Amino acid sequence: MTAPRFQFSIRATDGKARTGTIAMRRGEIRTPAFMPVGTAATVKAMKPETVRSIGADIILGNTYHLMLRPGAERVARLGGLHRFMRWDRPILTDSGGYQVMSLASLRKLTEEGVTFQSHIDGSRHMLSPERSMEIQRLLGSDIVMCFDECPRADRPLKEIEASMELSMRWAKRSRDAFDAGGDHAANSALFGIQQGALDEGLRVRSAEALREIGFDGYAIGGLAVGEGQEAMFATLDFAPGQLPQDAPRYLMGVGKPDDLVGAVERGIDMFDCVLPTRSGRNGQGFTWSGPVNLRNARHAEDTAPLDERCSCDTCQNYSRAYLHHLHKSGEILGAMLLTEHNLAFYQQLMQAMRDAIGERRFAAFAADFRRDYLGT
Ligand SMILES: [Zn+2]
Repeated sequence: MTAPRFQFSIRATDGKARTGTIAMRRGEIRTPAFMPVGTAATVKAMKPETVRSIGADIILGNTYHLMLRPGAERVARLGGLHRFMRWDRPILTDSGGYQVMSLASLRKLTEEGVTFQSHIDGSRHMLSPERSMEIQRLLGSDIVMCFDECPRADRPLKEIEASMELSMRWAKRSRDAFDAGGDHAANSALFGIQQGALDEGLRVRSAEALREIGFDGYAIGGLAVGEGQEAMFATLDFAPGQLPQDAPRYLMGVGKPDDLVGAVERGIDMFDCVLPTRSGRNGQGFTWSGPVNLRNARHAEDTAPLDERCSCDTCQNYSRAYLHHLHKSGEILGAMLLTEHNLAFYQQLMQAMRDAIGERRFAAFAADFRRDYLGT
């Protein structure tokens, strides 16, 4: 029997927190799930088999980066993104919309889509709902994201409203273009993205528009864009409940370990963030006792592992002193070892949350986590 195209099963709930699985053709995704970011067809400093061995069920690829280099048509000629990067499990691709807004120059936004100049070589490109769906199909994405516009949360409400309405029209065009994708549409899933910044009324309208169209899963967009954790949690107090109960909810671009715990507590099932990989290259390690800056001189002769509780290869075999030395010296191995630890720590945190929800002790888990991690 072939695996289902997309089947979300909730195994247990505890308060608003849920744990379960998403079954897909290329494998099962345990939720709540953290997706390592593989921006340019690589999770930076990590071999794909290591990404898998530390517990990742799915990774994220970036449409914007891949369309510019090496190009979606080229990836397709090379057999698709999975074969190209040697990752045979599910891949979620973003739509490119967010990164066009944050990275590209000379942007021109119309009802049709966005034209922009590449941040790499200045070449001109266009993204629209139809082109974004085509690129994600050429890459062979398992979970495709709708093309949307993400305005800054500090814009006037009228602007945020107009942008949300544009994103909902683009969501319908994304749905239609995805559905016309033949074999790819029959074997992959499409997620809608709720917008509306911090405004409850706009979030309701966005959720209603998305439910009307119908998606396999629903992302909460427009958060983690500088509004701060308090405002993000205040929005997450209502936004997940506006989306269908029986579909996964994905909080895009989040976050710090304490963001993940607070968001799971509020009903989120999926996350992605560059933080563990980027921090791994910058000398910041995440531990159950909080973040640690390994460049700090106090680690210079510390023979202890980065985290006594962590089961990763880095913590089993290398000292804080060695990691300190590698990062001070700019050695590539420093980035590799710390990235592996950070991603392993994130996966261990997700597993601990899944276990706590399954055993209906999530509130106690979250309290213990905050006591140790934040010192509160
Ligand atoms: Zn470790």
